[in-house]
Amino acid sequence: MGERIDYRDGRWRVPDHPIIPFIEGDGTGPDIWRASRRVFDATVGKVYGGKRQVDWLEVLAGEKAFKQVGHWLPDATLDAIRTHRVAIKGPLTTPVGGGIRSLNVTLRQMLDLYACIRPVRYFEGVPSPMREPQKLDVVIFRENIEDVYSGVEYRAGSAEADAVIGFLTERFGAKIRPGSAIGVKPMSKFGSQRLVAKAIEYALRVGRRSVTLVHKGNIMKFTEGGFREWGYEIARERFADRTVTESDAGKGDGGRLVIKDRITDAMFAQLVLRPDEYSVIAAPNLNGDLLSDAAAAQVGGLGLAPGGNVGDGYAVFEATHGTAPKYAGLDKVNPGSVILSGAMMFEELGWNDVATAIARGLGGAIRSGRVTYDLARLMPGATEVSTSAFAECIIEHV
Ligand code: NAP
Repeated sequence: MGERIDYRDGRWRVPDHPIIPFIEGDGTGPDIWRASRRVFDATVGKVYGGKRQVDWLEVLAGEKAFKQVGHWLPDATLDAIRTHRVAIKGPLTTPVGGGIRSLNVTLRQMLDLYACIRPVRYFEGVPSPMREPQKLDVVIFRENIEDVYSGVEYRAGSAEADAVIGFLTERFGAKIRPGSAIGVKPMSKFGSQRLVAKAIEYALRVGRRSVTLVHKGNIMKFTEGGFREWGYEIARERFADRTVTESDAGKGDGGRLVIKDRITDAMFAQLVLRPDEYSVIAAPNLNGDLLSDAAAAQVGGLGLAPGGNVGDGYAVFEATHGTAPKYAGLDKVNPGSVILSGAMMFEELGWNDVATAIARGLGGAIRSGRVTYDLARLMPGATEVSTSAFAECIIEHV
């Protein structure tokens, strides 16, 4: 009875019974997925009282796929995700030494998932190294395709590296030590602007106060500096009536979204010292990568950190941790990262009440002190519960 999610004129068209493919994942993945699905279904049921419901479709990847169909990443899985547009996945084993394609890289390239989105917020009760961790509540939009992730890199002493060095030295007089390794950092106006536009659209849609462009443009003037310039340009051209730059906002922002920029190193300091001045962050690939983990550490680490890779009309949400294989099948680990990734997915699809309710449920469960081992060992007085019991506790607090 489920129907496909569609995407037209830049907007998701979500039926009341959307089909959403899921990959349960390896190792602890099945425990985590079982718990997460309970939370998703119970929350959607509580919020919409039966009017809406997800029709989950299992697709195979990783060890389960290899055992059942002899491929780590079957074409049928890629086809199903392409057809249904939005998917969620648990962690997958990366086989050591095997020449298999990485699911993430394959999906990112195939579906052009150009924005890696990482919300970082504090849940009361989680131990944090900060005095006021609750002041940090940011959503980081990290460019996912260009910059150092574009994969143009050559080993020191290779013919390719030597050829590039020779070319740059002879043609442009560049000074490069012979025998160096070479990495190329391509950043385009197109790639930068669509990322910044996505961050601005999100900020406007959910009513956030600012978007900060993070760049190292003082040193890398044409790549990172380009990101800054192109970011302001797209804000001006496409969102003029709803945004204002920080310098103009001195006269009052008039309820508009403030666009500002910070140099990367300053941004790290700012997130520690004045986190509440930042809301949505748009960053090129490497800056975004570094900032995401640093920000997550401020609110208590990566254990609860969700993530999503989003393009135009396609999105894949996932836990940011791995398979934690030593706990596989023990009903022990924390399902919070996949649960919050699900909340992100519902928010992306416009089921905002479900996203809010899930976050409320998780917050309530943590405050109640009945938590999985990873949190229990850090929270004085907490009671350790299993993955499934933690899910039930979340549902109670929805
Ligand atoms: P990992 O699976 O993230 O586990 C490292 C440690 O992190 C665990 O031993 C555990 O720490 C803690 N941890 C991870 N998930 C947890 C959870 N849900 N709840 C509580 N604690 C959790 O990293 P790994 O051992 O390096 O990698 C294992 C496999 O996962 C590898 O094959 C790797 O390639 C793969 N991997 C996949 C993804 C992905 O699919 N997105 C990402 C990273 C790694 P304690 O033992 O201290 O409690």
